[in-house]
Amino acid sequence: MKVPNRVKIFAWRAFKNGLPTRRNLKARHIVQEALCEWCTEGEKDVAHALYYCLSVRQSWKHYFLVLMTDDAQLDIIQLALKVMSKRKPEDLDKFFLIAWSMWHRRNQKVFENKILPTDQVIVHALILAKDYKEARFQKQNRKLSSCCWQAPPQNALKLNVDGVVFDTLNRVRVGLILRNTSCEVILVASMQENGVEIELLAILRGLQSAFP
Ligand SMILES: [Zn+2]
Repeated sequence: MKVPNRVKIFAWRAFKNGLPTRRNLKARHIVQEALCEWCTEGEKDVAHALYYCLSVRQSWKHYFLVLMTDDAQLDIIQLALKVMSKRKPEDLDKFFLIAWSMWHRRNQKVFENKILPTDQVIVHALILAKDYKEARFQKQNRKLSSCCWQAPPQNALKLNVDGVVFDTLNRVRVGLILRNTSCEVILVASMQENGVEIELLAILRGLQSAFP
């Protein structure tokens, strides 16, 4: 999943029934009863806390109509599988982002006595994911741009070619440089061309120059 680590950890805990829901707290004798603190309609297990509770259920329909087609009490794994049935990998990311936002909302009520609108916490989670993806993209780009030229192995030469199109001058030039393992320039050249597939032309001219 392409989501922040905290959401991945949350998803793993939800799958393993490791979230401190009212039902789990009751099983560990930390609370007396497991009724949901939002709707008091039923025991609060993971699926209820994140999806079935009336306090959050309506918000899901804006994002996952596929989950609204039946009212069966599925567990969190079955709900995730249903989302995945649409075969869009980004849907699973969105599913757990929204589920995580619902859990965050629940914690705000329990520990901070704050009641946040569901739409607000969902939008916050989706923006967080967008920022995360952009940061990953920028990091990958930095890695790519930091790739530097490497000398060829012993007894080999390396030919680099490139082509440039000067739109305003209606001209094309290809350039090439041939270097050995000590980075010594064996050949450098630049020539004007009329070709359209400039990159291919640059490679061709490079090979012709290196192996006349
Ligand atoms: Zn509830």
